[in-house]
Amino acid sequence: MTHSRRPLIAGNWKMNGLTDEAMDLATGLVTRMTKMPNAPFDMLLCPPFTAIRMVAEVLAGRLMIGGQDCHAAEKGAHTGDVSAAMLADAGCTFVIVGHSERRTDHGETNAVVRNKAKAALAAGLHVIICIGETEAKRDAGATMDVVRSQLSGSVPGGANSDNTVIAYEPVWAIGTGRVATPAQAQEVHAEIRTWLAVRLGDEQASQIRVLYGGSMKPDNAAELLALMDVDGGLIGGASLMAEDFWAIAQNCIS
Ligand code: PEP
Repeated sequence: MTHSRRPLIAGNWKMNGLTDEAMDLATGLVTRMTKMPNAPFDMLLCPPFTAIRMVAEVLAGRLMIGGQDCHAAEKGAHTGDVSAAMLADAGCTFVIVGHSERRTDHGETNAVVRNKAKAALAAGLHVIICIGETEAKRDAGATMDVVRSQLSGSVPGGANSDNTVIAYEPVWAIGTGRVATPAQAQEVHAEIRTWLAVRLGDEQASQIRVLYGGSMKPDNAAELLALMDVDGGLIGGASLMAEDFWAIAQNCIS
């Protein structure tokens, strides 16, 4: 982390969070955040669609709330989908797009992800664009190629440090308990920043937040969050326990 970029600790609850769990988790985090009014990090919760409104009420603006996905269209005949405007209407200020589980389970291509990101920006949301290589691509030495091509394909025009966050999530580390080494994470994050500098200019590249995601836990967060080009975490499993999620965030306090 560097002091010029405010760390973002984002929780991706995935398909978890019935009413009681969602309320408990949100309440546990708000209680902690209330005791730390000048926390030197942003905290974002991304519950499932069904829990967004009630979690937003509990958070009451003290933590940020986001969706886990949105449709690329503004509205219309898309059964089961949710638009970016609907997320904003429900209280969200962020949305995750291009998570590897969406890319795999729903066949989302870079072009789909870019259109979703574009729709999110048009609706006034901040967007977290996820990228990351599979284990096969890493083993083949193609990590940087994958990352660069996902960035080229997924980041829309108009993206900047005020409205966009990049999350580097190696697919082999998501939900597996295997975590990138600090050297692996820093190498890719630096490459992402280099790409951003070419695309958006040095100034923007130095300000845009790049999160690490993939089995970040209280016992490995310190070394990852200390890396120069890591500006926070996108956290799945460990975001489902208030204590663990909060413990991860404490590593942002210098
Ligand atoms: C994620 O889903 O974005 C993620 C990083 O999950 P986990 O922390 O469980 O690996």
